[in-house]
Amino acid sequence: MAESVESALDDARAAKDAGADIVEFRVDRLFDPGDETGGELSVKRVERLCRETPLPCIVTCRPVSEGGEYDGEEAARIALFERLGALAGSSPKGAAGAPRFLDVELETYTRSANVRQKIHLAVANPGQLRDLETSLILSFHDFQGRPSDLMRKVARMRAEPASPDGAVAVHKIAYRGRSVRDNLELFDLLLERDRPTIALAMGEEGLLSRVLAPKFGGFLTFASLRPQEATAPGQPTVEELLSIYRFREIGPATRVYGVVGWPVAQSLSPLVQNAGFRTRDERGAPLHDGAYIPLPVPPEWEHFKATMLAFLDHPRLDFCGASVTIPHKEHALRLARDERWEIEPLASRIGAANTIAVEREPASGSNGSGASGGSSPRRVRVMNTDAPAVAMCLERAMRGIKGRRIALLGAGGVAAAAATALVDEGATVVIHNRTLARAEALASRVRDAMTEGAKALGGKVVAAAWEKRCGSCCEAFINCTPLGMRGGGAENESPLPEGELEHAAPGTVVMDTVYNPPRTPLILSALKNNLPTVDGVSMFAAQAEAQFRAWTGRAAPVGLFERLVRERLAKS
Ligand code: NAP
Repeated sequence: MAESVESALDDARAAKDAGADIVEFRVDRLFDPGDETGGELSVKRVERLCRETPLPCIVTCRPVSEGGEYDGEEAARIALFERLGALAGSSPKGAAGAPRFLDVELETYTRSANVRQKIHLAVANPGQLRDLETSLILSFHDFQGRPSDLMRKVARMRAEPASPDGAVAVHKIAYRGRSVRDNLELFDLLLERDRPTIALAMGEEGLLSRVLAPKFGGFLTFASLRPQEATAPGQPTVEELLSIYRFREIGPATRVYGVVGWPVAQSLSPLVQNAGFRTRDERGAPLHDGAYIPLPVPPEWEHFKATMLAFLDHPRLDFCGASVTIPHKEHALRLARDERWEIEPLASRIGAANTIAVEREPASGSNGSGASGGSSPRRVRVMNTDAPAVAMCLERAMRGIKGRRIALLGAGGVAAAAATALVDEGATVVIHNRTLARAEALASRVRDAMTEGAKALGGKVVAAAWEKRCGSCCEAFINCTPLGMRGGGAENESPLPEGELEHAAPGTVVMDTVYNPPRTPLILSALKNNLPTVDGVSMFAAQAEAQFRAWTGRAAPVGLFERLVRERLAKS
């Protein structure tokens, strides 16, 4: 949103430096026909923007009635468009001076023949005598949700002749995504387009439509310069789009992945998985043509089921996998059972899956619109990578788990994964939990699900009261509670009482599954007592690397995920 000509031009220069190709000037606040010069000064401001912009520009002056901030006379707004047309006419062809695009709402454009005629004066169209370089974007927006008359609106837009035979060069459709499934309909609209089209969902649920626009032939996508300045909620920044989501490399064949949870906006998984995809192999090609995007799915089972099935079934999405996080890990297993997908035995014994991996039939050729020809799932697997990640991290730190006594603090999902993985390696696991009954239930579940191999190795699991946890009772401690987690309400708390680790035997390993911050009160207390530690970042990286392997068949670049997470957390 332009506040002044200077700041808007500064931002345009910054956008260019950040890698943008085109800039949109929202002049709603800049254009004030009631200014002391009767609007002349305001027009001049917009004209200057168009003349001095370092990038081709879209000019938009959105009235309040269409969700914008312009609340002046409608006639003055239309007159502004005419003036921009005149400006173009006064410039020699090819010279800067006119906007590359003028964005006009469907309702405005179709209001009357008179308005339409005036808009035509500013844009290239068959009746235009001058050689104009400004093209018309015909748009509609709904900030509340998907309009109930969406398809009627689309039909009205398509009824307007496309340039060069008509005046409407580009269609823009934008509405607030009610759920991530709304993106799929927008992708379908892009695939059916009759001219260059922008189709975007606003809000966090719509990020998918913004990032995947190139996959479906979208004409462009919008990104903001700064997070707080997004003119539409959920807009990524230019920097995020280009550096995290590898926007320039996304194409029709790009495979789609995501992290499914509620909430997921703060997830670090997109940072690491996309960086893994982007890494070049020995031939200089990206390790994997994939895009990994947060997928916020409300907590209820019905939402999870409907979303996953819609994504899997969409023939053009190429949905190839997901990380599954709170609160859907049990849902992932339930869906796998209902749909008869392959379930990794470890996930089945734990009772939760954090990974979905999809193999698809090869695409059946192009449909001419630039998108891949579509493919259906051939094999869907669910697995749990939290469990091997805990075992691997601890194995490294303890140099052997078999026969060792390990205390788990907590009896939730991560504790279930840890307990199962550790008994499999022959450890004796003691589960302490605030709610003893839950610890007992988990111990008995893990015991019942123990394999013959784990029994042969001597794996054991018992429950114990929360109050009985003490620094000297075990050879390793793993925090599986949210205590110590930033923003969790107990950031300064440790699951072990103050001073307890002073009694720990030298070499007792202290592990935290909480990774933000990496140095939790528990880890700090272990360091103070010179005990070896494993923080949650190591576990996070290990489980993410296992997911990367499951989806791509390739190893994630050594150390990359852990380094990126540590760097990001150090900045937060
Ligand atoms: P969960 O299923 O909700 O279980 C939470 C456990 O913590 C329960 O046993 C609960 O006890 C206990 N708890 C909660 N608040 C407590 C308190 N104030 N005092 C004592 N105990 C408390 O959660 P989860 O999925 O297992 O996740 C646990 C933690 O693991 C998360 O906070 C996350 O930071 C971490 N995690 C890390 C990774 C990684 O890759 N590093 C991956 C996943 C999770 P009750 O049974 O008594 O309620």
